[in-house]
This record gives sequence, C-alpha cells and structure tokens, in this order.
Amino acid sequence: MKIKNKRILVTGGSGMVGKSLRKILPKGIYESSSHYDLTKKEDVGLMLDLYKPDVVIHLAAKVGGIIDNIHKPAEYFVDNILINALLIDECRKRKVERFIGVLSTCIYPDVVEDYPMDEDMLHKGPPTLTNFSYGYAKRSMAVQIEATNKQYGTKYQYLTPCNLYGEFDKYGENSHFVAALLKKILMARKIGADEINLYGTGKPLRQFMLADDLAWIIKRVIEDDIYENMNVATEEIFSINDIAMIALKACDAEDLKIVYNDKFPDGQYRKDVSIKKLKSVIPNFISTPLYMGIRATYLKIKNNV
Ligand code: NAP
Repeated sequence: MKIKNKRILVTGGSGMVGKSLRKILPKGIYESSSHYDLTKKEDVGLMLDLYKPDVVIHLAAKVGGIIDNIHKPAEYFVDNILINALLIDECRKRKVERFIGVLSTCIYPDVVEDYPMDEDMLHKGPPTLTNFSYGYAKRSMAVQIEATNKQYGTKYQYLTPCNLYGEFDKYGENSHFVAALLKKILMARKIGADEINLYGTGKPLRQFMLADDLAWIIKRVIEDDIYENMNVATEEIFSINDIAMIALKACDAEDLKIVYNDKFPDGQYRKDVSIKKLKSVIPNFISTPLYMGIRATYLKIKNNV
C-alpha cells in the first residue's frame, strides 16, 4: 500500500511504541487516552468518525509490570477486552481498510514442550498466572481479528512482539524490566552505591527488542502489503542475569554488583517465540543487538531520568 495519501491512525500514540513509530511515520495521527477513552464505545465512534482512517495501527492497551498485574487483574482484563473489542468492531463497521493490532508474547501458553514457540501454539495452553487476565484479554484480540476476517471478509492482522525497551519507555513507577534496570544503574551512580537490587532470581529467559525495531516492522507490513499474523522478536534469547550484565557494560557500570531478591516473583520462566514467519516475509529484518540497543537508549536517557 502506498502510504503517502493514506490516513493512518495510531491508537496508544503517546506510548513507547507510538513515539518510536512517530519518528518514521510522522504524518500519522497519534491519539491517546487524554482525548478518547477507548474503553467507551462513544469515544471509539467519535474518534473514528473524526479521522476516517484508512489504516488503524492499534497500540493502545492497559500495560503494566508484573506486580501491578498481580494486584489489579480485573482492571487489566476489563480495560483490554473493552478497548480491543470495541475498536475492532467499530473499525469493521466503518469499513476501515487495514487494521494492525499489537499483541504480546506474554499471551502465549505458560509452558510448552518446544521452544521457541511459533504462531500455531497460541491456544495450546493458558497464559502464565502472573499476567493471566492480561494474557487472556490480549489473546482474545487474536480470536476477534480472525473471527472478523472469517465473518466479514476483512484482512485485519495482528503482530505479536516480544518484550520491548527504548528511549520512550516509562522510567518511573511500574516500569518494564530494561527501563527499571537502566534507572537502577543510573540511580546507583548518582548516589555512589556499589550494587543494584533486582527482583527474582535472574534465571528467566527473555527476548528484548528495541521498540524502534517493532515500529520499523509495522511500517514495512503496511508498505509491502504483508497481512500475516506473526511474531515480531529478536533472535537473541538471554537470561535476566545476562541482560543485567549486558546493561552494566552498555552503561559503563561493570563495577556494580547485582543483588537478587528472590522474595519477588520471577514471572514466566520462558516465552521465547520463533520469527521464522517474520523472516520469510521480511527477509532483510535484522533486529538491533541488545548491547547496541541498550547502549543507544542509555545515551539518550542518561541525563533525563
Ligand atoms: P505504553 O507505553 O504503556 O502506552 C500505552 C498507550 O495506550 C498510551 O498511549 C495510553 O494513552 C494508551 N491507552 C491506555 N489506556 C487507554 C484507553 N483506555 N483509551 C485510549 N488509550 C489508552 O505501551 P507500549 O509499551 O507503547 O505498548 C504498545 C503496545 O505494544 C501495547 O498494545 C502492548 O500491549 C504491546 N506490547 C508492549 C510490550 C512492552 O514491552 N512494552 C511488549 C509486547 C507488546 P495515555 O498515554 O493517554 O495513557
């Protein structure tokens, strides 16, 4: 699709991925909850009727860390179910040409026999207990998109990215792992501490991708008319401890000691996904190596966090 004259609406445009996307799709319309609360049908309708988009890139979600997910499971479920169900159906009613919904690899089964998981494994077991309600709510978006395509002949699509990080992540309360890690390193430097404290055991395995890489993929699937539902991830799979060591190196802080507090939950042990399908449709995709991505992020945020 030639995007030059297309009206592209991005929900969740004020979030980390939205801001990465804005760098490469500056003419898009970037909306947030401050104008339209997408848990409300009226707001969803008003937004779509105002912008009349050809393409909707749906990033909006109630997103949070493991502890918040454990404390507010109902909120994570209800908000995400409402946002997705209303938006997809109202887009369908208005004949929006393209819809790209963004899921998350934490919707995959908690444990499977073979890793990395491919797209067919989505319904092979329940999501992990620590984000059970968020996982099921986001997984339902895949079900709804496929059902919408089947019943109405649309070509709506979803992408399932692994954990993300980047310059626009939240560096305050309730932040994701890499953002929290960078903040702890910067804080240790500021107060002259010789260690950083991390939750859990450091053993879980994770794929962490730069949010800019996901933004690049989103742009490519629109421009190249790619409609596959697929995982979007890096091929690097590291333990939390490996990631912490890489971050210390990337932040010139290798002298800091890492101390784990295993009274806090680890979360899912592993959820790594295969990107075979992604590479088959976008063969030249090369994700930013974790060290380089964290280094670049650190250099951008170090004076502002
Ligand atoms: P984020 O930084 O937390 O931003 C969330 C966005 O959703 C914000 O723009 C927020 O608007 C908007 N939003 C939340 N509730 C809303 C509501 N009721 N109505 C309208 N907008 C609402 O999220 P992100 O990290 O960019 O993630 C983008 C997408 O990628 C999400 O769907 C997420 O599930 C998925 N994802 C993220 C990760 C990750 O590690 N971050 C990993 C895999 C998948 P306000 O700014 O106004 O609150």
